[in-house]
Amino acid sequence: MNNKTIPMTDALYAYLLDNSLRDHPVLAAIRQANAQDEMLSLMQISPEQGQFMAMLVQLINAKRTIEVGTSTGYSALSVALALPEDGEVIACDTNEKVLRLAEGFWQQAGVSHKITARPGPALTTLNELLNTGQAGQFDFAFIDADKTGYDAYFEACLKLLRTGGLIVIDNVLWGGAVIDAEKQDEDTVAIRALNKKLHYDKRVNLSMLAIADGLTLLHKR
Ligand code: CA
Repeated sequence: MNNKTIPMTDALYAYLLDNSLRDHPVLAAIRQANAQDEMLSLMQISPEQGQFMAMLVQLINAKRTIEVGTSTGYSALSVALALPEDGEVIACDTNEKVLRLAEGFWQQAGVSHKITARPGPALTTLNELLNTGQAGQFDFAFIDADKTGYDAYFEACLKLLRTGGLIVIDNVLWGGAVIDAEKQDEDTVAIRALNKKLHYDKRVNLSMLAIADGLTLLHKR
C-alpha cells in the first residue's frame, strides 16, 4: 500500500461496479448502443463517473445545469435523473444527429422535459445565455467536448455559474499524454495549458481526480 491512487485492474474495476453501480435501464441501453460504435463508446463517460456526477449535482442542490459535449446523451441523462422535476440541462453538441439519438433516450427515461438539446457550436449557445442576462444563473456545468475549446468553455461557464456552483472538466489526464513529452498535438497541448492555468486560479477551488480519464472539479468562489 502507498498513498497514491490504487492501480485499477480489470478485476478490481469489475468489483467496483458490481458493488456500487445503481443502474438505470436507459443508461444501460445507451451504453449498449454506444458499444456498437468505437467513437461513441470512447466519447461516453464511464458508468461510475455518471453516478458520481449525479451525486455532485445533488450535493450542491443543482437545478440549472449546462453540458458542453453531449453525444448520445449518457452524461446528460445521468445528471437529469438526479435533478428535481423542474431541473434543467442545456445540452450542447455540434453533431445534431447524435443529439436526436440522445433525445430518444431521454424520452424513454421520462426526463426529456428537463433537457434542452442545443445543436451547434457550444460557445455560440453559451454566449447567447450570457447575452440574455443569464450570468450567475447556473449551478453546474460539465465540459467534455473538443479539447482545444476547453479554455473558452471554462471561461464562459464560470460566468454562467453562481458562486458555489461546480464545473466538472473531463479527460484532464488525456490517457496519460499530459506527461508524454513526445505528444505535442493540439488537444494534448490545450489540456496541459488549461491544467496549468487552473492549478492556481483564484476564482475557483480545485480538485483533480484520477477517476476514469481524469476529472477536475472546480468550485466557484
Ligand atoms: Ca470525455
